[in-house]
Amino acid sequence: MRYLILSDIHANITALDTVLAAAEGQWDAAVCLGDIVGYGPDPNEAVDRIRSLHCATIRGNHDKAIAGLDEAEDFNPVARTAVLWTREHLSNENLEYLAHLRAGPVFVDGFTIVHGSIRDEDEYVFVPPQAVDEMRIAPTPITFFGHTHRQGGFVQRGDSVGVISFDNFNIAPKNLIWTLNLEEGATYLLNPGSVGQPRDGDPRAAYALADLEQRTVEFWRVPYDIEAVQNRMLEALLPEALIMRLAYGR
Ligand code: ZN
Repeated sequence: MRYLILSDIHANITALDTVLAAAEGQWDAAVCLGDIVGYGPDPNEAVDRIRSLHCATIRGNHDKAIAGLDEAEDFNPVARTAVLWTREHLSNENLEYLAHLRAGPVFVDGFTIVHGSIRDEDEYVFVPPQAVDEMRIAPTPITFFGHTHRQGGFVQRGDSVGVISFDNFNIAPKNLIWTLNLEEGATYLLNPGSVGQPRDGDPRAAYALADLEQRTVEFWRVPYDIEAVQNRMLEALLPEALIMRLAYGR
């Protein structure tokens, strides 16, 4: 089975559709690691598109807050504004869908999916000590996580932990950033990156393709029409900081 791994779409339908077009024919099933909505101008379109993929989907902190399951007290003022805007603009049916999304971890065909971490769906896993704690309790050798909006992750072989980072790669114009060959006996915590609001310095939409038979995970970036999304955000009167950051990928 080949899996399309999607995370942190954040109501950016232009980025999501660009990813789906680029990955067309290369996957058998998709998974979504949460944050379908929040920040972006297209919440209904993003939810409808994810629903149409019939994929294993878990909720993110934004999905949870927008559905009213969380008061978003730990959100910064800009993110909170977007939560309230999204709540107002989502159809009742899509709000209901978000409210019933499962929390991670969810087990899919030999790997695990979480939004933040295995222990806490709202935790940001940024550094190796956190990853070590996660990999110790990981129920499967491969866990896909999102939430940080940074493509890459961590690998543990015996006592050593490596960081998988493409910070020096992503100036490269090619779309396939890296093919990771999964080693027998190693444990992986892998982030496909954010489809709709990357924060690792590369503004292109991010995703991953995992082939469990070939034991490879490909990390991809595709350019999309950022300006079109920014114009819709302007029209929607979404916060300027959110509009600007799409262009920087920060
Ligand atoms: Zn997110």
